[in-house]
Amino acid sequence: MPFACVRCGECCSQMGDVHVVREECADGSFLMENRYTGEVHAVRVAPDRASLLADRSIFERWPLACPFLREDPADGKACCTIHHTRPDICREYRCWRLLVLNAGGTRAGRVMERRHLAADDPALAAFWETHIAVIREDDDTRWDERAIETLTKAGYIVRR
Ligand code: SF4
Ligand code: SF4
Repeated sequence: MPFACVRCGECCSQMGDVHVVREECADGSFLMENRYTGEVHAVRVAPDRASLLADRSIFERWPLACPFLREDPADGKACCTIHHTRPDICREYRCWRLLVLNAGGTRAGRVMERRHLAADDPALAAFWETHIAVIREDDDTRWDERAIETLTKAGYIVRR
């Protein structure tokens, strides 16, 4: 299944510590620096997103959000105002290894890194603690198989 971003904004919510605006250029573009690699990247706010930049309310919720993250008033979802010129680190990012849906197809949680669950559904979080976190298996492939099997038997749908 292809990666499907649901625009929750979580991955950008702490990136203000990484992405720093070094310069606002006269032509409306920005020089953005990756504080950890020193890489500088020219970015441009999409014309249809320019009006969103003035609204900084997202920083009340996420003080460390990327300087270009905003909320889209059309649907309340997160919006990268420089989406078309965003740096490679953002283009290549994929936030989960395993996607866990409930029986109705709603996202219940994401397995990130090796075995970390970011749960949307408290019921999945509880199930995880009692049935998945207790799996003792060093081999990652085998652990995935066992976790998927256990979740599937419980009625969840797991996508890789
Ligand atoms: S990449 Fe993942 S964490 Fe980031 S906005 Fe999309 S779904 Fe949310
Ligand atoms: S540049 Fe866009 S995608 Fe990258 S962290 Fe900032 S808001 Fe998120």
